[in-house]
Amino acid sequence: MSTQRIETVCVQGGYTPGNGEPRQIPIIQSTTFRYETSEAMGKLFNLEASGYFYTRLTNPTNDRVAARIAALEGGTAAMLTSSGQAANFFAVFNIAQAGDHVVSSASIYGGTYNLFAVTMKKMGIDFTFVSPDCTDEELEAAFRPNTKAVFGETIANPALTILDIERFADAAHRHGVPLIVDNTFATPVNCRPFEWGADIVTHSTTKYMDGHGAGVGGAVVDSGRFDWLAHAEKFPGLTEPDESYHGLVYAKQFGNAGAFITKATAQLMRDFGSIQSPQNAFLLGLGLESLHLRMKQHCKNGQAVAEFLAGHPDVAWVRYPGLPGDRYYERARKYMPEGTCGVVSFGLKGGRALAEAVMKELKVASIETHVADARTCCLHPASTTHRQMNDAELAACGIGPELVRYSCGIESAEDLIADLAQAIEAAKKAA
Ligand SMILES: *Cc1c(COP(=O)(O)O)cnc(C)c1O
Repeated sequence: MSTQRIETVCVQGGYTPGNGEPRQIPIIQSTTFRYETSEAMGKLFNLEASGYFYTRLTNPTNDRVAARIAALEGGTAAMLTSSGQAANFFAVFNIAQAGDHVVSSASIYGGTYNLFAVTMKKMGIDFTFVSPDCTDEELEAAFRPNTKAVFGETIANPALTILDIERFADAAHRHGVPLIVDNTFATPVNCRPFEWGADIVTHSTTKYMDGHGAGVGGAVVDSGRFDWLAHAEKFPGLTEPDESYHGLVYAKQFGNAGAFITKATAQLMRDFGSIQSPQNAFLLGLGLESLHLRMKQHCKNGQAVAEFLAGHPDVAWVRYPGLPGDRYYERARKYMPEGTCGVVSFGLKGGRALAEAVMKELKVASIETHVADARTCCLHPASTTHRQMNDAELAACGIGPELVRYSCGIESAEDLIADLAQAIEAAKKAA
């Protein structure tokens, strides 16, 4: 698979049917699996043989779709989770426990920030947040002896900052820990973080991968390159016996290529049960078949809309990494030469009031708590996802009261631009 181009992997990766078998990945809608003897099933419980016994841990539909995502990212193993939140939780909790510490970019999805700064903090894991544009000294100073991972987003939602993956990977590796990258907005079509030194990749598959607003889901992918045994004292969960599996040592039994995902499945999925339903996994697999085509159109529309807004007299500012002059333009060219994503943030000169009025007038784009979908959608963070914050707090996290997050779908760019133009005119007239 690794020698094939990304377009071919999107369509065929992870599943090669045998003679007379279904051409499409079948939905195995079964909670359980039948065995001839208890002894055969016992081998599965001991992780001595691979196979299926209960869909709370693994399911064949999920595994085939996960294998496609692993192939797309160039990883050795992957698992599907019930949501992107579950994916990021699993990726971190698989190697960090109470008393440990993680360095994270501060420019990340709000849900992930809450997960880290509030919920996982209650579980005893400390996070230090650094700017994605921090100096080398600031990044270095964030590490502690008990640091177990570094985390960031390729393209941050909704700030649209871009992570310098190589620099963060180098810093992580100097301290003997892996870099985890949430690659949701870029997708492996536009950026493959493993090629730049990342060790673990996560996704909210709810976004571009599913692409049709049909199923909430997530994925965790392992590059298979991080040498857990070389840093054995930092990662006892992978390098010391697991008493819940009769003393098995993941890093020895499954090697660097398989240890991380096997442990996350055998322990975390077993205990938390945050598995994606086989039905949703099927829809995700279907979405992946056109990911390469959709990403092209999302990026084309994002570029056209960003350029239109940048030239509009009522627009105060536009943030889009594909726009020359954008703060992240050069970094985007390096990591994502084919394009970034379809999400554009902008502010109107009329401020918060005009932002709300314009959104009300939009006819092609609809107001939704969603992003990265085939249908264009938009959101006013100040009055929805961030509404508990006052204007000063909003400014501190880089989300002004005038900010509109506009997620270009795969419709015609001309229609999106005409819709925005009429909405701005109508909103001004009404004001
Ligand atoms: C949406 C999102 C998440 C959370 O994913 P869910 O599927 O909604 O749980 C995580 N990271 C990023 C970058 C996201 O956009």
